[in-house]
Amino acid sequence: MDPSRIAAALLAWSVGVASTFAADVLDPFALSEVAPGNFVHYGSLEERAPGNMGDQANIGFIVGEKCVAVIDTGGSAAVGRALRAAIRRTTDRPVCWIILTHVHPDHFFGTAAFREDRAVVIGHENLPRSMGQRARPYLNALKRDLGDHAAGSEVIPPTQLVRDETVLDLGGRTIRIKAWPVAHTDNDVTVFDERTGTLWLGDLLFVSHTPVVDGKITGFLEVLDTLSRVSVQRFVPGHGKTDAPWPQALEPERDYLALIVRETRAAIKRRKTIEEATDEVGLSERDKWVNFDDFHRRNVTTAYTELEWE
Ligand SMILES: [Zn+2]
Repeated sequence: MDPSRIAAALLAWSVGVASTFAADVLDPFALSEVAPGNFVHYGSLEERAPGNMGDQANIGFIVGEKCVAVIDTGGSAAVGRALRAAIRRTTDRPVCWIILTHVHPDHFFGTAAFREDRAVVIGHENLPRSMGQRARPYLNALKRDLGDHAAGSEVIPPTQLVRDETVLDLGGRTIRIKAWPVAHTDNDVTVFDERTGTLWLGDLLFVSHTPVVDGKITGFLEVLDTLSRVSVQRFVPGHGKTDAPWPQALEPERDYLALIVRETRAAIKRRKTIEEATDEVGLSERDKWVNFDDFHRRNVTTAYTELEWE
């Protein structure tokens, strides 16, 4: 199905009208200018709840002389509205593009807040399919977790797709959107601002928050390897923040994933079941990460099903 028809079908599942009180909880909506023209809002490391309205992912925007490009829109329409208001306080340039780094709902449910901007939504070529498959469960879970604060949130897939690399001219400023092989998900893109050497990683980089594997753990490690050789002045993780330099900032995540691969392979070799593996693999990392118990067992399960066929 073409993306516009998917979009039309998904619009029908939107969760109602905008709530009027939601914006207060996200006010003030803090922005950090991590590099000239690159503005980041750091999301919460807490679980999704009415108190944070799904404001969990790091999201933001890049300002050119002609256009603004938004990078991820947040975990609910309320977060999207807060981001849009913050952009309007920062610049009078129009939002021409919205880049969605991948399929996870904490990164895209705010897109509906930008409807009147008529921005082109851009994502990995695999993103429309993945969003289509997950739209209904994601909306149901959002309503369950946020209640009235989910109002207005919609699944809006990209209409401009990135197969390898897409270059955008924001006016005196070139940004490169790169599609990666299967890693965190099968639809990860990064955004690189050439003028400042700033790399927006989406969830290819987790800081403090337990890394999540929803794609392929060996692919994730390969992508990190490639990224570590890229020349980067500044970088924006998908979750958390760090003062560590590049590429050392990738190391805690890489060590975590590599340990899971090593210990899962060993468990498979010793003919452990998947349940036994999830009870023992990677537990030495528990104290290093937030939300470990929410995500770690699932990562081991994903790794086991991938590695048992090697
Ligand atoms: Zn993610």
